[in-house]
Amino acid sequence: MDLSQWKRVVIKVGSALIAPHRKGCSSHYLLSIAQFIVRLRANGVQVVLVSSGSVAAGSHLFPETENVNIALKKAMAAAGQTEMMATWDRLFDFPTAQILLTHGDLRDRERYVSIRDTIFSLLDNGVLPIINENDTVTTDDLKVGDNDNLSAMVAASADADALIICSDVDGLYDKNPNTHDDAVLLPEVTTIDSRIFAMGGGATSAVGTGGMKTKIEAAEKATSHGIDTFIVNGFTATTFNTLLEGKNPGTHFRPYAKPMQEHVHWMTHTASEQGELVVDNDFDTTFVDGQQLTSDEIVEVNGSFAVGDTILLRKDDGTRIAKARSNYSSCLLSFIADQEDREFAGEFQNKTGPIISKKNIAVLEKQ
Ligand code: GLU
Repeated sequence: MDLSQWKRVVIKVGSALIAPHRKGCSSHYLLSIAQFIVRLRANGVQVVLVSSGSVAAGSHLFPETENVNIALKKAMAAAGQTEMMATWDRLFDFPTAQILLTHGDLRDRERYVSIRDTIFSLLDNGVLPIINENDTVTTDDLKVGDNDNLSAMVAASADADALIICSDVDGLYDKNPNTHDDAVLLPEVTTIDSRIFAMGGGATSAVGTGGMKTKIEAAEKATSHGIDTFIVNGFTATTFNTLLEGKNPGTHFRPYAKPMQEHVHWMTHTASEQGELVVDNDFDTTFVDGQQLTSDEIVEVNGSFAVGDTILLRKDDGTRIAKARSNYSSCLLSFIADQEDREFAGEFQNKTGPIISKKNIAVLEKQ
């Protein structure tokens, strides 16, 4: 681990560190994290902070504890977010900036690029971006849902060298350490597979929404973009000194040797599919130069999507082939796929252009 190689780092801090007792924010655990950020910046490393805690910080302002419905949670998030930002801001003598995002923002390519530009502008001007999900406006289909995955999407968008996820456990254990005395901490993970996910099990924190599973998902997203990912214990101050010494205090997920290209990564891990195109089982999935998907090969168009939306391409037998940006709306695709007159459909497509452009295809590795 060579810190001198890091130019940009994303640090994710969970709710349990910010509002440990759900009675407003506490700087108790944040002091050592803030000091770590200050020292990284002093060494020329740009830092982006992804901070949870708005709901946990705001909940004490609302007397209702029994029936906490979604609207009340959103109100807690709105109230707690200002307290959380103020707590962080007090710990630094440089400016901070709040960025609130939803998955709806991240999966839209234009908005994603705009978020990315904003992060770079803040960093270039010495401002610390502090990012959280915009819990007040999200709906189920618009949210990321947990800040572990959000931090990985942010790390990819910011072209970070490292993602450090501060948790309430020391890292990934081979078994649940709360129930198994003989659980062993894994210092290094080189390949994230089903065996690693099985070790993650369920959620471990009572305050946040993430668990080990979402941390492993985040590690998978980040490492596939070439980002060194660490799960460390944010409750112990020594964690951060160890990191500054260039040592690993928790679990280090090694990045892919051949990271995905930025737009392919975005399509695979950030954009979610708005519909699907089912194609013939004998469809050639190699996407060799010049190969075009033709309307003849479409078996079914599912969902309602617009031009530019990300869709899933799959075979009739269920095999997932690729995620891709559609140049046609679902309506138009259904129209040409349904044409009895195949010559007309072919000509239509020749005039309108390819259904999917080769540069906008992300082949799914696990088929
Ligand atoms: N966005 C949520 C909050 O600020 C936290 C999500 C999470 O814990 O992962 O309360």
